[in-house]
Amino acid sequence: MIVVLKQNPEKMRVERLIRHFEDMGLKINYSEGANTTILGLMGDTSSIDEHDVLAYDVVERVQRVTEPFKAVNRKFHPDDSIIEVAGRKIGAGYFNVMAGPCSVESEAQIVEVAESVKKAGASFLRGGAFKPRTSPYSFQGLEAEGLRLLLEAKRQTGLPIVTEIMSEKHLDLFADVDIIQLGARNMQNFMLLKELGHSDKPILLKRGLSATMDEFLMAAEYIFAGGNHNVILCERGIRTFETMIRNNLDITAIPLVKKLSHLPIIIDPSHAAGRRDMVQPLSRAAIAAGADGLIIEAHNNPRCALCDGAQSLDLPMFDDIMADIRRRAEFEGRELIS
Ligand code: PEP
Ligand code: MN
Repeated sequence: MIVVLKQNPEKMRVERLIRHFEDMGLKINYSEGANTTILGLMGDTSSIDEHDVLAYDVVERVQRVTEPFKAVNRKFHPDDSIIEVAGRKIGAGYFNVMAGPCSVESEAQIVEVAESVKKAGASFLRGGAFKPRTSPYSFQGLEAEGLRLLLEAKRQTGLPIVTEIMSEKHLDLFADVDIIQLGARNMQNFMLLKELGHSDKPILLKRGLSATMDEFLMAAEYIFAGGNHNVILCERGIRTFETMIRNNLDITAIPLVKKLSHLPIIIDPSHAAGRRDMVQPLSRAAIAAGADGLIIEAHNNPRCALCDGAQSLDLPMFDDIMADIRRRAEFEGRELIS
């Protein structure tokens, strides 16, 4: 249930109303926007009589929220959320490009890629240290050593880093990581979602391979429920009957998320199709549909990449595509962050 307050409500009266709800065992999500202040009530609101609430003179109106996701619901927070990471703003008209290899392979590789994507205009360096691979015989990532190399690339270039976590047991290793990625395969790893909810790190939550929008937003709700409100959503392609491409990019997810939620959403055009020749057209579509950014795989030598080489751009290609992204983001009125 949401309670919309009248303009410029008297503070003491609002506090009294909040206490009233807290005494009923409810949690309150307080949101002060540009035009409205909203109390989002979390918990069992079935016994609340709307007329009793309307009797408080600070209350403008009361609305039941039928969707299962509450704190991430736009009804709870009408303005776009902005996630601030390492001095960079994500969401609400700011456009960020995160780029780097699928996996960290060596210091020379990650530093070369970091320097190059930074020069081209990326605002974050991506790179996997813990890799969720379909086969146990495939390269599993450099793990803790990979994180160390990412931090070294960050130290040398100043680019903040985004990298995937696969187990809550590793959280301590991620202390200096700027954005923790929760990968598609772990979108419904509820223990991990709960742990990340208790962390204060920004989380890049990737949509599961066959997750519905409700499931996707409920995964974000888990992180919010633990107290962490720094969530960035990422649509990275979903499974369909099509076999010619790795996944199908669900462009509809962008306007749908914008309608349902206040959270930023970025697009991963690399995993979406699994082919480097699709990265540019899918990036263009994402910008036009209102995405808040992109996460793109780029490698200094894609043919020899230990993971996802077929979808990785080489560095000159990334440079070219970045110039196109800049033009199109500006055309759409987005501010490109670098
Ligand atoms: C990745 O970003 O390298 C990755 C494994 O992504 P996803 O979880 O979307 O497959
Ligand atoms: Mn990958």
